Amino acid sequence: MIPAPLRLRLDGDALVSNWRFLAAMSGPAACGAAVKANGYGLGAREVVRRLADAGCRDFFVATWNEALALAGLGVAVSVLHGMREEDLPAALAAGSARPVLNTVQQVRRWREAGGGACDVMVDTGMNRLGIRPEDVAAGLLDGLAVETLMSHLACADEDVPLNALQRERFAALAGRTAAKRMSLANSAGIALGADYAFDLTRPGISLYGGVQVAAFAEQIRQVVFPQVQLLQRRLVPAGQSVGYNATWTAQADTEVAIINLGYADGYLRCFSGKGRAWAGDIELPVIGRVSMDLTALDVSGAPDLAEGDWVTIDYSLPQTAALSGLSQYELITGLGGRFDRLWE
Ligand SMILES: *Cc1c(COP(=O)(O)O)cnc(C)c1O
Repeated sequence: MIPAPLRLRLDGDALVSNWRFLAAMSGPAACGAAVKANGYGLGAREVVRRLADAGCRDFFVATWNEALALAGLGVAVSVLHGMREEDLPAALAAGSARPVLNTVQQVRRWREAGGGACDVMVDTGMNRLGIRPEDVAAGLLDGLAVETLMSHLACADEDVPLNALQRERFAALAGRTAAKRMSLANSAGIALGADYAFDLTRPGISLYGGVQVAAFAEQIRQVVFPQVQLLQRRLVPAGQSVGYNATWTAQADTEVAIINLGYADGYLRCFSGKGRAWAGDIELPVIGRVSMDLTALDVSGAPDLAEGDWVTIDYSLPQTAALSGLSQYELITGLGGRFDRLWE
């Protein structure tokens, strides 16, 4: 393989350190890891391998193809989107992966197929996936081998009454099923306090550097550092413009670098005229429009930066979200397939 002109430097120590912090914040509850969407774009197998070495035992993906991609790693995988008819053969054959049953129909399907251990999602107020608490009370899960009964918080990153309401509705289900464990909190939910942790927490975004709550700001480290190679360096004379629709015009003669990154890589047009990169500690502002595969930087401050050199894109998740208006989730899962992913 030819090395790509763009890469994600992935800090494995930061990933593990983030998990250890979230595990400590989870108190006596176990701390799992959401690795759906290919480990939020970092590469699920590499994430799982590192977190399993650190002691993580519970992993969450969205689909059965994502579960199959983790085969052979010897870890327990819960498939959050449950089990459609077409998933059933894979679900029954999967050794260490189990469905998170979300609907009455999925519970029936699993029973009729003679399925074994499963998880169950109960909806406590988000109205996304999950069976109703009333269905649990009515005995829907009686006799089912439920490993983990879970629910999901709609507003964990906000201080709103719905959090306590969801927690109370969920807590009321304790002892109503044969479930060995109960699980409610995602990353931000862990910060809501010990009574949200139950037996198992399910952080995702904060493992990968996401910070939505003040309590995490000091402790959560950046994991993903996009780095991009310069394809060309040019002098743009005063009065000339750069890029599509000529949205930027040089006020004075300006040194400009063209880098191998664009919106097809997840570096969206909202970074036009707003984003920045770094050459060491020299700041390089994005100028003009971000194109599909290319972006221009003002490199006046970096006289030695040359064709073939690498720069690091500013991509701290909380700051970049504030700058761009994109969510931290969109920022990290949008990074595309053209990046090499290099762990260190
Ligand atoms: C994605 C997801 C998580 C992880 O959420 P973060 O906000 O990324 O921490 C946990 N539980 C469920 C059900 C999810 O879908």
